Amino acid sequence: MRHFPIFLDLDGARVVVSGGGEAALAKLRLLMKTRARLTVFAADPADEVIELARERRIALVRRAVEPGDALCARLFYAANDDDAEDARVAALARADGALVNWVDNLNASQFITPAMVDRDPVTVAIGTEGAAPVLARRIKAHLESHLPTNLGVLARAGQAFRKAAEALPMGRKRREFWADYYDRAGPRALEQNGADALPRTLQDLLDDHLATKPSAGHVDLVGSGPGDPDLLTLKARKLLDEADVVIHDRLVSPAILELARREAVLINAGKKGFGPAMSQEEIGRLMVEHATQGAHVVRLKSGDPGVFGRLDEELDALNVAGIDWAICPGITAASAAAAQLGQSLTKRGRNSDLRLLTGHDVKGFAEQDWRGLARAGMVAAIYMGARGARFLQGRLLMHGASPDTPVTAVENASRVEARVIASTLAELPADLEAAAPDGPVILMLGLAPRAAVARLPQLQEELA
Ligand code: SAH
Repeated sequence: MRHFPIFLDLDGARVVVSGGGEAALAKLRLLMKTRARLTVFAADPADEVIELARERRIALVRRAVEPGDALCARLFYAANDDDAEDARVAALARADGALVNWVDNLNASQFITPAMVDRDPVTVAIGTEGAAPVLARRIKAHLESHLPTNLGVLARAGQAFRKAAEALPMGRKRREFWADYYDRAGPRALEQNGADALPRTLQDLLDDHLATKPSAGHVDLVGSGPGDPDLLTLKARKLLDEADVVIHDRLVSPAILELARREAVLINAGKKGFGPAMSQEEIGRLMVEHATQGAHVVRLKSGDPGVFGRLDEELDALNVAGIDWAICPGITAASAAAAQLGQSLTKRGRNSDLRLLTGHDVKGFAEQDWRGLARAGMVAAIYMGARGARFLQGRLLMHGASPDTPVTAVENASRVEARVIASTLAELPADLEAAAPDGPVILMLGLAPRAAVARLPQLQEELA
C-alpha cells in the first residue's frame, strides 16, 4: 500500500485550488461538501467559477498563483489542465508547505482524491492507487446501489445518541443495541414516521436493551474453506462479522482473517502439521473461558471443520462446560482441489465412492485399507499426505496398484498461489521433492488434471 487512506478534518481549513476550468470545478464540487475555506486562483475563470464566487462559496483571486499564495493552506490542488503551469504552481505550493495534489498526475502528487460514496456522515472512499480507475468506478456504482440513500440520516441520529447509549456496558451489549438500530428499528421508524421519529425510537430501543439480561456466550465452529475468501459461506461471513473472539488455525488464510470484525480478538491456535503449537486442551480451555464471559466465539478452521479438524475433542470440551455451540460447514480441500483440476470427485463408471484419508495420524504415517485403495478407478483425497508420499507409494504398489495411477498434488488449492503438480504413483515422491511445496498440499489419488488440450477439439467443434 503506497497511499494510506485517512479522513482529514477540513472544518475551517484553508484549501487552495489553482485553475478555473473543468478540472478545478470537478475538485470544487467535492470540496464544497466540506466546510473548508476555499480559495481559487484563476486568471481566466469559467462562468461557473465566477458564479460560485458571487454566491460566496469560494474566494476567487483573478490571477495565477504566486509564491506565498499557499501559505497556511492544508491542501493545494494544481488543476490548470496545463502541465507546465501545474508543475510551476505545484512547486510553489510545496515550498509554502501545503500538501499538493496535481490533478491526474499520480506520481507528482503527495495525496490523491479517492472515488467517494457520500452518505454524510458515512463516507466510503475507494482507491486503487491509479491502477484501475474503471474498477473504482464500478465499486462505487455497486456501493451506491446497495447502501440505502437514507443511511446518512440514520447515522446522524445515531451520532447524536451515542452519549445516551453509554448507559449500556461497552462491548457486546452496546454493539447489539446499535446493530438492532441500524438493521431493524432505525430503517423501520424512518420509513414509517420519518427522521423526526428517530430520537424516540432510539430511546425506546435503549430501554428495551437495558431491560434484557446479557445473553450467554456461545461458540460457532466454522469452516473457512480452502483459502479463497469468496469460498466462505454467507453464514461464515456473517458469524465472522459478529464474533468477539476468533480462534483460528494456522491454515486459515490471512485474507479471511481480514474479514473478522475489526474489534474482534484474534487468537492463533497455530497448529502446525506435526507438533501442535497450542494443545487441544488449551484450545478447549480458551473457548470455554471466553464463552463463559458472554463472548461470541468463532472457532475458525480451514476447510470443513468436520474433516480432519479434531472437531469432536473440541465439542466434548464445550459439552463438559455446558457451552452452547453450533457447526457451520465449509468447503473442504478435496472439493477445492478437484475443482482446480477440472475433475469431479465421483464419476459414473469410474468411482462410486470417494475416500478422504489422512497421510498421518497421531502415531505417525497412517495405515489404511491399502487393498481397497489400490483398486483401479479409486479416487481418494489424501490430507496431510505430502510428507508420507514415499510411504503411500510403497504401500499402494505393494498391494497391487498400477505405477501409472495418476496422483495429482494440489498446493494452496483455490488460492492465488495455487500450484498443481501432476504425477503418477511411480513418480510421486520425486516430483514432490522437486516441487518443494511450502503451502498446504492435498494428494488426489486417481485424478489427473483435465488437460486443456483434451478439450480443445471439442471447443473447436463448438466454435465452428
Ligand atoms: N479441515 C480441513 C483439513 C484440515 S487438515 C479441510 O476440510 O480442508 C490440513 C490439511 O488439509 C493440509 O495438510 C492439506 O492436506 C489440506 N489442505 C487444507 N487446505 C488446503 C488447500 N488450500 N490446498 C491444499 N490442501 C489443503
